[in-house]
Amino acid sequence: MEQQQNIVARTPTASPCNVLMIYPRFMADSFWNFSEACELVGARYPAIPLGLITVAALLPKSWNVRLVNRNTEELADSDLDWADMVMTGGMLFQQSDTLELIEMCRARGLPVVIGGPDATSSPHRYERANFRVLGEVEDIISQFIEAWEQGAREGLFVAEKFKVDVTKTPVPRFDLLKFEHYLYIGVQFSRGCPFTCEFCDIIELYGRSPRTKTHDQILGELEALYKLGYRGHVDFVDDNLIGNKKAIKAFLPHLQQWIEQHDYPFEFTTEASLNLADDDELLAMLKRSNFFAVFVGIESPDTETLIAMRKKQNTRRSIGDSVHKIYHAGMFVTAGFIVGFDSERGSVAEPMIELIEESAIPIAMVGLLYALPNTQLTRRLASEGRLHVDHDSAPAAKGDQCTAGVNYETKRSRLEILRDYREILERIYSPDAFCGRLERLAAMLDCSGRRKELPEGDVRRRLSTINMVHELLSRLPEGRERFWKAFTTCMSKNPQSVRAVVTLMAFYLHVGPYSRYVMKQIDRQIEDLEQGRFVAPKLLPPVAPEPAAAKPPKPAVPAPIAMSA
Ligand code: SF4
Repeated sequence: MEQQQNIVARTPTASPCNVLMIYPRFMADSFWNFSEACELVGARYPAIPLGLITVAALLPKSWNVRLVNRNTEELADSDLDWADMVMTGGMLFQQSDTLELIEMCRARGLPVVIGGPDATSSPHRYERANFRVLGEVEDIISQFIEAWEQGAREGLFVAEKFKVDVTKTPVPRFDLLKFEHYLYIGVQFSRGCPFTCEFCDIIELYGRSPRTKTHDQILGELEALYKLGYRGHVDFVDDNLIGNKKAIKAFLPHLQQWIEQHDYPFEFTTEASLNLADDDELLAMLKRSNFFAVFVGIESPDTETLIAMRKKQNTRRSIGDSVHKIYHAGMFVTAGFIVGFDSERGSVAEPMIELIEESAIPIAMVGLLYALPNTQLTRRLASEGRLHVDHDSAPAAKGDQCTAGVNYETKRSRLEILRDYREILERIYSPDAFCGRLERLAAMLDCSGRRKELPEGDVRRRLSTINMVHELLSRLPEGRERFWKAFTTCMSKNPQSVRAVVTLMAFYLHVGPYSRYVMKQIDRQIEDLEQGRFVAPKLLPPVAPEPAAAKPPKPAVPAPIAMSA
């Protein structure tokens, strides 16, 4: 743990204090912004800044808090003039804007406080911030507040890892949000995941023993959203909602009862590991609780690669059958896939395309392997002397893991990795391939028991109208006839799947053109390599592995689903 230090200034500032929370911009060219889908329903960005509004709830009641999300609105000079301090921070792909914000604040003499996952993983990148509050903040925020009130204007506060008792975390300040700006609202039930995937930073940031909120606590969060008038899509942002199966199974009947009593104001999505498919009872509970989609990390079609990356929960199974089982339980699957692992023995393009097709996953987030800071993968590559010098910097121009991945010296030829990646994108996001998967998914998706009508106030109500389908088709850059045919086929096979079908088509509005954009960027990289123009980035010198850190952290108590890893 880094040593904490506070430099006390001479003139203390009296309470109350005006805190301006600024959520930094994600880089514009990203798979995740779904900008065209947002536009279709009048939203500006998919997800809310849940971390910042949770921190806001931890601040003294006498402090005034304003929130500006740079992904949805402009930051005005008057906001900065109002503020006594700025709080900011986010993920790796917000780093560029965060650093810009820090400089903007410093130029005004406005103290800036940084926190969040990227600052926690790469604190050295944020040394220009006045305060760094790193890790899960619940247990250290009071130290920061005390230091501030005593006049400190610089400081470093580092939380002890995985120690926060999330049952004490207050209801996030949902009242700071403009709901109409977002596709969905996030809530968090648990932190941590019992698995050991080598490339994952979640287990480093939140540990391998999932910590869960109480039933009353999470229902209190939903109640707060309900009372504020929000209706619609709520995402459980947990990195693996089923990380503690016992806990989620104990909670779901309460959730089901709550939504029934409130006449189904929300529909839910989440992320879960693929072993979800092994548990019929859990699938049925999620369906009864109004979950309609789940993101699953599939990563690779190659068993050896899955074993090497320590994602054993995806082995010893038919991945396609597992996905179909989730469809039969009424939830559609979006999934992550990665190209560029050391253990790939030749091209993975064909088997990955086959797997995506066989599983019938319309939206597959296929990225290049990115060695994220603070992961087992990055430590291994560092010890092998294979990390690029700037591996943990994310300038906006570089893009996300789709265009800026492979930030290390590869084992397989870089050229082959890029060619594979390009081929996968080209084939899975052709209108015909996408629509084919959509049709197969719609035939399997069991929407029985799902409410046809969404509640008043849910922006997605418009999605299932025929006018919206026509509007969507008119916005498609290509393949309109094929999409119309897919729509009519899906409706004839399974009319109840209309909302899922139109939602996925709306996502295509973004991922279709975005995949073409990524292909162009990859083409340039391929051309540079073929013509000898590619200048390999400098490598960091090898560092000796730290014995304790090189191993994945062990859960403090046996994790209930560790046997499926
Ligand atoms: S399943 Fe793997 S990738 Fe997903 S949160 Fe857990 S450790 Fe990370």
